[in-house]
Amino acid sequence: MPPGYPSGVAGAQRITLGVDLGGTKIQTVALRGLQTLASARVPTPQSGVADDVIEAILGTIHTTLAQVGCDASAVEGVGIGSPGEIDIAAGVVTQAANVPGFSASVRLGPLVSEALGGMKVRIDNDVRVGVLGEHRVGAGRPYANMLGVWLGTGVGGGLILDGELHDGRGAAGEIGHVVVKPNGRKCGCGRRGCLEAYAGRARMERRARKLVKRGQDTVLFEIMREESKERLTSGIYVKALKHGDELTKQLLADAAWALALALASAQNLLDLDAIVLGGGMGDKLGQAFVDQVVKQMAPHLFADDHPPVVLHTELGDLSGAVGAALLAAEPM
Ligand SMILES: [Zn+2]
Repeated sequence: MPPGYPSGVAGAQRITLGVDLGGTKIQTVALRGLQTLASARVPTPQSGVADDVIEAILGTIHTTLAQVGCDASAVEGVGIGSPGEIDIAAGVVTQAANVPGFSASVRLGPLVSEALGGMKVRIDNDVRVGVLGEHRVGAGRPYANMLGVWLGTGVGGGLILDGELHDGRGAAGEIGHVVVKPNGRKCGCGRRGCLEAYAGRARMERRARKLVKRGQDTVLFEIMREESKERLTSGIYVKALKHGDELTKQLLADAAWALALALASAQNLLDLDAIVLGGGMGDKLGQAFVDQVVKQMAPHLFADDHPPVVLHTELGDLSGAVGAALLAAEPM
Protein backbone atom coordinates (compact mmCIF):
# COMPACT_ATOMS: atom_id res chain seq x y z
CA MET A 1 0.00 0.00 0.00
CA PRO A 2 1.55 3.31 -0.97
CA PRO A 3 2.19 5.80 1.84
CA GLY A 4 -0.41 8.51 2.27
CA TYR A 5 -3.28 6.22 1.38
CA PRO A 6 -5.49 4.93 4.19
CA SER A 7 -4.70 1.27 4.79
CA GLY A 8 -6.77 -1.49 6.30
CA VAL A 9 -10.47 -2.26 6.23
CA ALA A 10 -11.74 0.98 7.74
CA GLY A 11 -10.11 3.10 5.02
CA ALA A 12 -11.18 0.75 2.27
CA GLN A 13 -14.90 0.79 3.12
CA ARG A 14 -15.57 4.48 2.84
CA ILE A 15 -16.47 5.85 -0.56
CA THR A 16 -14.59 8.75 -2.10
CA LEU A 17 -15.70 10.74 -5.11
CA GLY A 18 -13.41 12.21 -7.75
CA VAL A 19 -14.29 14.89 -10.30
CA ASP A 20 -12.21 15.74 -13.36
CA LEU A 21 -13.28 19.20 -14.47
CA GLY A 22 -12.38 20.04 -18.05
CA GLY A 23 -13.34 22.61 -20.67
CA THR A 24 -15.47 20.14 -22.63
CA LYS A 25 -16.47 17.44 -20.14
CA ILE A 26 -16.95 16.71 -16.46
CA GLN A 27 -16.03 13.15 -15.46
CA THR A 28 -16.88 11.85 -12.00
CA VAL A 29 -16.13 8.48 -10.39
CA ALA A 30 -16.96 6.83 -7.08
CA LEU A 31 -14.18 4.74 -5.52
CA ARG A 32 -14.10 2.30 -2.63
CA GLY A 33 -10.45 1.87 -1.73
CA LEU A 34 -8.79 1.54 -5.12
CA GLN A 35 -11.83 0.09 -6.86
CA THR A 36 -14.00 2.15 -9.19
CA LEU A 37 -17.66 1.52 -8.36
CA ALA A 38 -19.44 3.98 -10.66
CA SER A 39 -18.81 6.78 -13.10
CA ALA A 40 -20.74 9.58 -14.80
CA ARG A 41 -19.78 12.00 -17.53
CA VAL A 42 -21.55 15.11 -18.84
CA PRO A 43 -20.53 17.87 -21.25
CA THR A 44 -19.30 21.01 -19.47
CA PRO A 45 -22.05 23.67 -19.71
CA GLN A 46 -20.96 26.34 -22.18
CA SER A 47 -23.20 29.17 -20.86
CA GLY A 48 -20.23 31.02 -19.37
CA VAL A 49 -21.81 30.93 -15.90
CA ALA A 50 -19.74 29.23 -13.17
CA ASP A 51 -22.88 28.24 -11.22
CA ASP A 52 -24.06 26.15 -14.19
CA VAL A 53 -20.74 24.25 -14.16
CA ILE A 54 -21.05 23.67 -10.40
CA GLU A 55 -24.64 22.42 -10.87
CA ALA A 56 -23.36 19.98 -13.51
CA ILE A 57 -20.61 18.75 -11.14
CA LEU A 58 -23.22 18.17 -8.41
CA GLY A 59 -25.40 16.35 -10.95
CA THR A 60 -22.61 13.86 -11.76
CA ILE A 61 -21.98 13.36 -8.03
CA HIS A 62 -25.65 12.49 -7.42
CA THR A 63 -25.68 10.19 -10.46
CA THR A 64 -22.65 8.20 -9.25
CA LEU A 65 -24.08 7.97 -5.72
CA ALA A 66 -27.37 6.66 -7.15
CA GLN A 67 -25.44 4.03 -9.17
CA VAL A 68 -23.62 2.89 -6.03
CA GLY A 69 -26.89 2.93 -4.12
CA CYS A 70 -25.81 5.09 -1.21
CA ASP A 71 -26.30 8.65 0.01
CA ALA A 72 -23.82 11.38 0.91
CA SER A 73 -23.42 10.08 4.49
CA ALA A 74 -21.37 7.12 3.16
CA VAL A 75 -18.90 9.45 1.44
CA GLU A 76 -15.57 10.33 3.03
CA GLY A 77 -14.88 13.25 0.73
CA VAL A 78 -14.76 14.68 -2.77
CA GLY A 79 -11.63 15.47 -4.75
CA ILE A 80 -11.69 17.76 -7.77
CA GLY A 81 -8.99 18.11 -10.41
CA SER A 82 -9.26 21.47 -12.14
CA PRO A 83 -7.26 23.40 -14.70
CA GLY A 84 -6.00 26.87 -13.78
CA GLU A 85 -4.20 28.13 -10.72
CA ILE A 86 -5.28 26.35 -7.58
CA ASP A 87 -5.21 27.64 -4.02
CA ILE A 88 -5.33 24.22 -2.38
CA ALA A 89 -5.95 25.51 1.17
CA ALA A 90 -8.81 27.84 0.17
CA GLY A 91 -10.27 25.57 -2.52
CA VAL A 92 -10.23 28.46 -4.98
CA VAL A 93 -9.64 28.11 -8.74
CA THR A 94 -8.30 31.08 -10.72
CA GLN A 95 -7.80 31.58 -14.46
CA ALA A 96 -9.11 28.23 -15.61
CA ALA A 97 -9.73 29.94 -18.95
CA ASN A 98 -10.79 26.73 -20.74
CA VAL A 99 -13.74 26.20 -18.37
CA PRO A 100 -16.63 28.55 -19.26
CA GLY A 101 -17.25 30.97 -16.36
CA PHE A 102 -13.94 30.16 -14.68
CA SER A 103 -11.64 32.85 -16.07
CA ALA A 104 -11.94 34.82 -12.80
CA SER A 105 -11.65 33.29 -9.29
CA VAL A 106 -14.23 30.65 -8.34
CA ARG A 107 -14.65 29.34 -4.77
CA LEU A 108 -15.14 25.87 -6.19
CA GLY A 109 -14.25 23.86 -3.07
CA PRO A 110 -16.42 25.78 -0.57
CA LEU A 111 -19.39 25.99 -2.99
CA VAL A 112 -19.41 22.23 -3.71
CA SER A 113 -18.90 21.51 -0.01
CA GLU A 114 -21.86 23.72 1.03
CA ALA A 115 -24.13 22.11 -1.57
CA LEU A 116 -23.23 18.67 -0.15
CA GLY A 117 -23.96 19.58 3.48
CA GLY A 118 -20.41 20.50 4.46
CA MET A 119 -18.66 17.48 2.95
CA LYS A 120 -14.85 17.54 2.80
CA VAL A 121 -13.78 18.78 -0.65
CA ARG A 122 -10.19 18.94 -1.89
CA ILE A 123 -9.00 20.59 -5.08
CA ASP A 124 -5.76 20.24 -6.96
CA ASN A 125 -4.35 20.76 -10.44
CA ASP A 126 -6.00 18.45 -13.01
CA VAL A 127 -2.73 17.07 -14.38
CA ARG A 128 -1.28 16.39 -10.94
CA VAL A 129 -4.35 14.41 -9.85
CA GLY A 130 -4.22 12.48 -13.13
CA VAL A 131 -0.62 11.54 -12.44
CA LEU A 132 -1.60 10.51 -8.89
CA GLY A 133 -4.34 8.28 -10.36
CA GLU A 134 -1.92 6.59 -12.76
CA HIS A 135 0.60 6.11 -9.98
CA ARG A 136 -1.76 4.50 -7.46
CA VAL A 137 -4.11 2.58 -9.74
CA GLY A 138 -2.73 2.70 -13.31
CA ALA A 139 0.49 2.21 -15.23
CA GLY A 140 2.71 3.70 -12.51
CA ARG A 141 1.73 1.21 -9.75
CA PRO A 142 5.09 -0.61 -9.48
CA TYR A 143 7.21 2.55 -9.30
CA ALA A 144 8.21 4.81 -6.40
CA ASN A 145 9.72 7.56 -8.55
CA MET A 146 7.75 8.59 -11.57
CA LEU A 147 7.14 11.53 -13.85
CA GLY A 148 3.78 11.88 -15.59
CA VAL A 149 3.67 14.08 -18.66
CA TRP A 150 0.21 14.96 -19.97
CA LEU A 151 0.06 16.01 -23.61
CA GLY A 152 -3.09 17.96 -24.29
CA THR A 153 -3.87 21.52 -25.33
CA GLY A 154 -0.73 22.32 -23.35
CA VAL A 155 1.86 20.06 -21.73
CA GLY A 156 1.44 19.47 -17.99
CA GLY A 157 3.32 17.27 -15.59
CA GLY A 158 3.30 15.73 -12.16
CA LEU A 159 6.16 14.27 -10.17
CA ILE A 160 5.95 11.33 -7.78
CA LEU A 161 9.00 11.06 -5.52
CA ASP A 162 9.33 8.25 -2.96
CA GLY A 163 5.69 7.35 -3.60
CA GLU A 164 4.30 10.82 -2.92
CA LEU A 165 3.06 13.58 -5.17
CA HIS A 166 5.70 16.30 -5.03
CA ASP A 167 4.22 19.84 -4.94
CA GLY A 168 7.39 21.86 -4.38
CA ARG A 169 6.09 25.33 -3.52
CA GLY A 170 2.96 24.57 -5.53
CA ALA A 171 4.27 24.43 -9.09
CA ALA A 172 6.53 21.35 -9.21
CA GLY A 173 6.35 19.15 -12.27
CA GLU A 174 5.76 21.87 -14.90
CA ILE A 175 7.88 20.09 -17.47
CA GLY A 176 5.93 21.80 -20.28
CA HIS A 177 8.00 24.91 -19.71
CA VAL A 178 11.41 23.27 -19.68
CA VAL A 179 13.48 24.91 -22.42
CA VAL A 180 14.34 22.65 -25.34
CA LYS A 181 15.52 25.39 -27.73
CA PRO A 182 16.84 28.82 -26.78
CA ASN A 183 14.86 31.52 -28.66
CA GLY A 184 12.76 28.76 -30.21
CA ARG A 185 9.02 28.72 -30.95
CA LYS A 186 6.77 30.94 -28.86
CA CYS A 187 4.99 29.15 -26.01
CA GLY A 188 1.49 29.76 -24.59
CA CYS A 189 3.18 31.06 -21.43
CA GLY A 190 4.74 33.93 -23.39
CA ARG A 191 8.29 32.59 -23.24
CA ARG A 192 10.22 30.97 -26.08
CA GLY A 193 11.53 27.49 -26.73
CA CYS A 194 9.48 25.61 -24.08
CA LEU A 195 8.59 21.93 -24.59
CA GLU A 196 4.92 22.97 -24.82
CA ALA A 197 5.67 25.15 -27.85
CA TYR A 198 6.52 21.93 -29.74
CA ALA A 199 4.42 19.23 -28.07
CA GLY A 200 1.25 21.07 -26.94
CA ARG A 201 -1.76 20.68 -29.23
CA ALA A 202 -2.59 24.41 -29.34
CA ARG A 203 0.93 25.34 -30.44
CA MET A 204 1.10 22.45 -32.91
CA GLU A 205 -2.07 23.80 -34.53
CA ARG A 206 -0.57 27.29 -34.76
CA ARG A 207 2.47 25.79 -36.45
CA ALA A 208 0.27 23.80 -38.85
CA ARG A 209 -1.67 26.96 -39.85
CA LYS A 210 1.59 28.82 -40.41
CA LEU A 211 3.01 26.06 -42.64
CA VAL A 212 -0.25 25.87 -44.64
CA LYS A 213 -0.02 29.64 -45.23
CA ARG A 214 3.47 29.05 -46.58
CA GLY A 215 1.96 26.61 -49.08
CA GLN A 216 2.43 23.23 -47.40
CA ASP A 217 -0.20 20.58 -48.12
CA THR A 218 -2.12 18.72 -45.41
CA VAL A 219 -5.37 16.81 -44.81
CA LEU A 220 -5.52 18.06 -41.18
CA PHE A 221 -7.96 20.93 -41.78
CA GLU A 222 -10.02 18.91 -44.26
CA ILE A 223 -10.62 16.26 -41.57
CA MET A 224 -11.38 19.02 -39.06
CA ARG A 225 -14.11 20.44 -41.34
CA GLU A 226 -15.53 16.97 -42.10
CA GLU A 227 -15.88 16.36 -38.37
CA SER A 228 -17.37 19.81 -37.75
CA LYS A 229 -14.64 20.60 -35.24
CA GLU A 230 -13.19 24.05 -34.65
CA ARG A 231 -9.80 22.87 -33.42
CA LEU A 232 -7.34 20.15 -34.38
CA THR A 233 -8.15 17.48 -31.80
CA SER A 234 -5.90 14.55 -30.90
CA GLY A 235 -8.13 12.23 -32.92
CA ILE A 236 -7.68 14.40 -36.03
CA TYR A 237 -3.87 14.07 -35.81
CA VAL A 238 -4.22 10.28 -35.53
CA LYS A 239 -6.49 10.14 -38.62
CA ALA A 240 -4.17 12.40 -40.64
CA LEU A 241 -1.27 10.15 -39.68
CA LYS A 242 -3.17 7.14 -41.05
CA HIS A 243 -3.49 9.06 -44.35
CA GLY A 244 0.32 9.37 -44.35
CA ASP A 245 0.03 13.18 -44.02
CA GLU A 246 3.54 14.65 -44.27
CA LEU A 247 2.79 17.80 -42.25
CA THR A 248 1.38 15.70 -39.40
CA LYS A 249 4.46 13.46 -39.46
CA GLN A 250 6.64 16.55 -39.26
CA LEU A 251 4.67 18.06 -36.32
CA LEU A 252 4.79 14.77 -34.40
CA ALA A 253 8.49 14.34 -35.14
CA ASP A 254 9.10 17.82 -33.68
CA ALA A 255 6.99 16.92 -30.62
CA ALA A 256 8.89 13.65 -30.12
CA TRP A 257 12.25 15.45 -30.50
CA ALA A 258 11.29 18.10 -27.92
CA LEU A 259 9.89 15.50 -25.51
CA ALA A 260 13.01 13.35 -25.81
CA LEU A 261 15.23 16.30 -24.85
CA ALA A 262 13.06 17.38 -21.89
CA LEU A 263 12.53 13.85 -20.59
CA ALA A 264 16.20 12.89 -20.89
CA SER A 265 17.16 16.00 -18.90
CA ALA A 266 14.52 15.21 -16.25
CA GLN A 267 15.81 11.63 -16.11
CA ASN A 268 19.44 12.73 -15.69
CA LEU A 269 18.40 15.00 -12.82
CA LEU A 270 16.02 12.65 -10.97
CA ASP A 271 16.97 9.04 -11.93
CA LEU A 272 13.31 8.05 -12.23
CA ASP A 273 11.93 4.50 -12.40
CA ALA A 274 9.26 5.39 -14.93
CA ILE A 275 7.84 8.09 -17.16
CA VAL A 276 4.13 7.92 -18.09
CA LEU A 277 2.80 9.79 -21.12
CA GLY A 278 -0.88 10.70 -20.87
CA GLY A 279 -3.37 13.40 -21.78
CA GLY A 280 -5.48 13.42 -24.96
CA MET A 281 -2.50 13.26 -27.33
CA GLY A 282 -0.54 10.78 -25.20
CA ASP A 283 -3.54 8.42 -24.97
CA LYS A 284 -4.50 8.67 -28.64
CA LEU A 285 -0.99 8.39 -30.13
CA GLY A 286 -0.22 5.35 -27.94
CA GLN A 287 2.74 3.00 -28.13
CA ALA A 288 4.11 4.02 -31.56
CA PHE A 289 4.65 7.57 -30.32
CA VAL A 290 6.12 6.36 -27.01
CA ASP A 291 8.62 4.23 -28.98
CA GLN A 292 9.61 7.23 -31.08
CA VAL A 293 10.30 9.29 -27.92
CA VAL A 294 12.23 6.46 -26.22
CA LYS A 295 14.49 6.01 -29.23
CA GLN A 296 15.38 9.70 -29.33
CA MET A 297 15.89 9.92 -25.56
CA ALA A 298 18.50 7.17 -25.49
CA PRO A 299 21.53 9.12 -26.77
CA HIS A 300 20.99 11.83 -24.10
CA LEU A 301 20.79 9.53 -21.06
CA PHE A 302 23.75 9.71 -18.70
CA ALA A 303 23.00 6.36 -17.01
CA ASP A 304 22.27 4.78 -20.39
CA ASP A 305 22.61 1.21 -19.10
CA HIS A 306 19.38 1.56 -17.07
CA PRO A 307 16.92 3.87 -18.83
CA PRO A 308 13.52 4.53 -17.24
CA VAL A 309 10.47 2.58 -18.34
CA VAL A 310 8.35 4.82 -20.59
CA LEU A 311 4.66 3.91 -20.69
CA HIS A 312 1.34 5.29 -21.79
CA THR A 313 -1.53 5.55 -19.30
CA GLU A 314 -3.67 2.58 -18.26
CA LEU A 315 -6.69 4.55 -17.03
CA GLY A 316 -6.82 6.79 -20.11
CA ASP A 317 -9.22 9.69 -19.64
CA LEU A 318 -10.40 8.31 -16.28
CA SER A 319 -7.02 8.94 -14.61
CA GLY A 320 -7.97 12.49 -13.55
CA ALA A 321 -11.24 11.51 -11.87
CA VAL A 322 -9.68 8.44 -10.19
CA GLY A 323 -6.74 10.53 -8.96
CA ALA A 324 -9.12 13.17 -7.62
CA ALA A 325 -11.01 10.49 -5.68
CA LEU A 326 -7.72 9.24 -4.19
CA LEU A 327 -6.86 12.81 -3.22
CA ALA A 328 -10.14 13.01 -1.30
CA ALA A 329 -8.97 10.13 0.90
CA GLU A 330 -5.75 11.86 1.91
CA PRO A 331 -5.60 13.86 5.14
CA MET A 332 -6.26 17.60 4.74
ZN1 LIG B 1 6.17 27.96 -21.74
